Amino acid sequence: MSKTAETDLLNFLYACPVGLLEFDAHGEIGMINPNAMKHLLPLSPSGEMENFFLATEQYAPELRNMCESFERDSGPICDGHRIVTQLTDGGRRGVPTVIACSMVRLGADRFMATLSDISQQVLQEMRLRQADAWLAALVGEINDHALIILSEEGRILSVSPSFTRQTGLHSDAVIGRSASRILTGLEDAQGRAIPIDEQLAMARRDGWHLFEGWEKRRDGEAYWAQRLIVPRGENYANVGQGFSLVLRDVPVPEEGSEDLVRLLTRDHLTGAANRMQFNKVLKQERLQWKSRHRSLSLLMLDLDHFKVINDEHGHAVGDRVLKMVAEKAETLLPGNASFARLGGEEFGVIVPNQALTEALTIAEELRAAIGDLNVPASCASVSVTASIGCANMDETDGSIDELLKLADERLYAAKHAGRNRVLASAV
Ligand code: GH3
Ligand code: MG
Ligand code: MG
Repeated sequence: MSKTAETDLLNFLYACPVGLLEFDAHGEIGMINPNAMKHLLPLSPSGEMENFFLATEQYAPELRNMCESFERDSGPICDGHRIVTQLTDGGRRGVPTVIACSMVRLGADRFMATLSDISQQVLQEMRLRQADAWLAALVGEINDHALIILSEEGRILSVSPSFTRQTGLHSDAVIGRSASRILTGLEDAQGRAIPIDEQLAMARRDGWHLFEGWEKRRDGEAYWAQRLIVPRGENYANVGQGFSLVLRDVPVPEEGSEDLVRLLTRDHLTGAANRMQFNKVLKQERLQWKSRHRSLSLLMLDLDHFKVINDEHGHAVGDRVLKMVAEKAETLLPGNASFARLGGEEFGVIVPNQALTEALTIAEELRAAIGDLNVPASCASVSVTASIGCANMDETDGSIDELLKLADERLYAAKHAGRNRVLASAV
């Protein structure tokens, strides 16, 4: 080897990011680069650095044996053999150092080893295994919660072991099939069957969808089940990531007891969505507006001179008016609109997919229908009118607060202009 070639090789060995060393059949080290020296140090508490087998004896006595029992003249002896040391020095007490060692026999009396520190990688693997074990324990060991992973179209991708325990159905029998064919009771509180894609769309829209109903085990036994569908992904606008469905075996609710979803999302007097639900839907619709440029209109509605109705006909009649207004709105508004009671006699309507002019038409129909209501009272029937302010997200900088404020200002302007009217711009 020429002088420059030798210098080049030495430079290469010196700078090489992996520990490299050469040793003979007895372990005597011929050549060693600084990186190998560094990795060998923690393996060799005695400080031995001349013989590879002696240096590694405490933590990896098997290395000597592996070389001695290697029968061929040349070839790989081991690849990434892990040597674990438990260091006890102050800074890293208790954290193992893991050195990966690969050895090759180059000739009868020539061996080469590479050493690299893989402690961080091992630590990461340990954490992942721990997380896996946790998840497996959560979805596998809990019996009253079965977890089903659905594709975007509602096809079953996987089920937890508890699914089989709960339903008696083996995973092989259900994977790849549509959830609507497996889960029998996909129906709403009124017993109306809801197609699975509609349920998934509701979960996508609201962030989750909870429903209860009879489910059947494989042997035909019926049980009452609660089903929670949650879209997978970081936010609701994220499409294409499928859904998680949690199936719970719960006691049959007592006659007349309020169902859970209703309790959480509805106003108990009118049955309209409550303010919390309204805010939630508004947030999700804003995401759709932003990410998919789906139009978003908002109506703010306040009944006119409602106090007078209460004063003249009593609170019970006032309540009846509120209920009838809500019923009318539910039947009249488009299916994807969300009608919510925001306070006393104030309501909000979220109208997705409609521009301001269309929202204005919808608001006008609603106003007229409310004006036509005849609410039975003891003496005569009572009528009521409403004022409505309309706004569209495109008129704002994209903030929900601004949308609410704009619709509110127009409602206020409608009141000011004489009530019983709809305004979609400041007068
Ligand atoms: P305006 O046209 O300016 O909106 O007048 P208004 O009388 O409708 O407005 P105001 O805010 O003065 O009165 C609202 C009334 O609604 C007062 C309150 O007693 C009544 N109210 C609030 N919640 C309920 C309810 O749940 N049931 C009944 N019956 N009345 C309610
Ligand atoms: Mg009012
Ligand atoms: Mg009011």
